[in-house]
Amino acid sequence: TEACLAAIEDAGVLNAFVHKTPELALERAAAADARLAAGDAPAMCGLPIGIKDLFCTRGVASQAGSRILQGFLPEYESTVSQKLADAGAVMLGKLNMDEFAMGSSNETSVYGNAVNPWRRSNDDTALTPGGSSGGSASAVAADLCLAATGTDTGGSIRQPAAFTGTVGIKPTYGRCSRWGIVAFASSLDQAGPMTKSVRDAAIMLEAMCGHDPRDSTSADIPVPDFEAALTGDIRGKKIGIPKEYRMEGMPGEIEALWQEGIAMMKDAGAEIVDISLPHTKYALPAYYVIAPAEASSNLARYDGVRYGHRATLEQGDGITQMYEKTRAEGFGPEVQRRVMIGTYVLSAGFYDAYYNRARKVRTLIKRDFEEVFAAGIDAILTPATPSAAFGLGEMTDADPVAMYLNDIFTVTVNLAGLPGISVPAGLDKQGLPLGLQLIGQPWAEADLLSAAYRLE
Ligand code: GLN
Repeated sequence: TEACLAAIEDAGVLNAFVHKTPELALERAAAADARLAAGDAPAMCGLPIGIKDLFCTRGVASQAGSRILQGFLPEYESTVSQKLADAGAVMLGKLNMDEFAMGSSNETSVYGNAVNPWRRSNDDTALTPGGSSGGSASAVAADLCLAATGTDTGGSIRQPAAFTGTVGIKPTYGRCSRWGIVAFASSLDQAGPMTKSVRDAAIMLEAMCGHDPRDSTSADIPVPDFEAALTGDIRGKKIGIPKEYRMEGMPGEIEALWQEGIAMMKDAGAEIVDISLPHTKYALPAYYVIAPAEASSNLARYDGVRYGHRATLEQGDGITQMYEKTRAEGFGPEVQRRVMIGTYVLSAGFYDAYYNRARKVRTLIKRDFEEVFAAGIDAILTPATPSAAFGLGEMTDADPVAMYLNDIFTVTVNLAGLPGISVPAGLDKQGLPLGLQLIGQPWAEADLLSAAYRLE
C-alpha cells in the first residue's frame, strides 16, 4: 500500500487517481495485516486497488467524472466496493473516467483526461488510455495499484484494457450488483475487474460478484471458484470466428493478431468454426439509441436539489431556471448530447421509430448469439478494438460518430447481456498493445477465463 501511494504521487501526470484516500488506505492495510497475522486472510487481503469514480464510496467523493456531482459524499457504499473491502482489498482512491461513463477516451471527464503510460516507439504523443474506465486502465498499467474496478456499458472495461495491455472482463449482465454504482444505461451496465493478468481477474471477479437483493437485476445463481477453473484446457472446445467482425478498412495488424489468436487456440486443441452473427451491423446504431434513452431517464435525478452542484441563481429565478442553469453548468457537452438524443428517441412522436425499433434490433442481436451457442459454439474470438490507442485530442475535433465507432466490437456483448473479456495479445508496429476479445455463453465466466488464460 505504501509503495502504491508513493507511485501515485510520482505519476501525477497520468491523472489516473482523482480522489486519493491515503489515510483510509493505511488504516485498511493495517487491518489487513492484523487479519493476516490472525490467520484469517480472505482472497484479496491487503491488496491495494483503485475504484472507478462511478462507484459510490461512503464518505469519499464519488463524482462519476462530472461537475454536477461536485461535493457529493455518499452515505452508502456500493455493493461491489463493499464486497472488495470485505475480501480485504485496500482502496487507494477513486479513478478518473469519462463523465457518467460516456466516452471512449477519458476526455469527457471533468478532471481532464487520464493518460496512457504507453508511448509509440517513434514519437512522444500522449495517448488515451481508452474510456470510459481510462483511469482504471492507466493506473493498473502503470503499477499504481494491483487492480481496479471498471464498468462496461458498451466496452468501457474491454477497450481501455486493450489500449493499455491489461486484462478486463465484463461479466454476464446480473453477475455483479449495480447497487450503489451511478447508473448510465441500466439494462447494459455491468461492473468488472481490470487487472494485470487473467488469474488476478478470476480472483477479483469472484470477490466482486454474487446475488444482491438490493439490485432486482442481480442474479441469484452460485458464484464458481473462478481461479480453480483456470486450467487453460480448451481441447475440443468450439471457438467461433464471426465473419461480420472482419470490417472493411480494419488495419492489417488487427487482422494479423486475430489470425495469431486463432492459431494459438487451434494449437491448444480447440476447434475453430466460422460463424455468422448477421445483425452485427445494426449493433452500434441500436446501442446509441438505447444507451442515451436510458441515460436521459437516469440523469433526470440531477436537478440541483438532491446531489452535488447547484447553479447560483439570480433574483426572480424560479425552480425551472434552477434546473436549467444547474444542468447546463453541471453536465459537459457529451452528456448533454446524450440527454438530448435520449429524450428525442423517447418522445411520443418518435418512440416507435427509434426506441422501440432499437429494442427489436437488440432482440435480433441477442438471438444471433443464442443460435450460435445452441449450435455448439463455446466461445467467440474477435479483436477487442478496431485500432490501438490513439493520441489525446486526435478524435476530439472529429464527428462524435468517429468516437462511437471505437465500440464496434464491444457493444454487441452488452446488448446481448453476455460475458466478454479482453486479453493483451501482442504489440503493433509502433509498440502499442492490442487486445483480443473472447465472448462467452451466459454465466460461463469460468470457461471464458480459462480460455483467456490460454491466450494470455
Ligand atoms: N464508449 C461507449 C459510450 O460512450 C461505452 C461506454 C461504456 O461502456 N461506459 O457509450
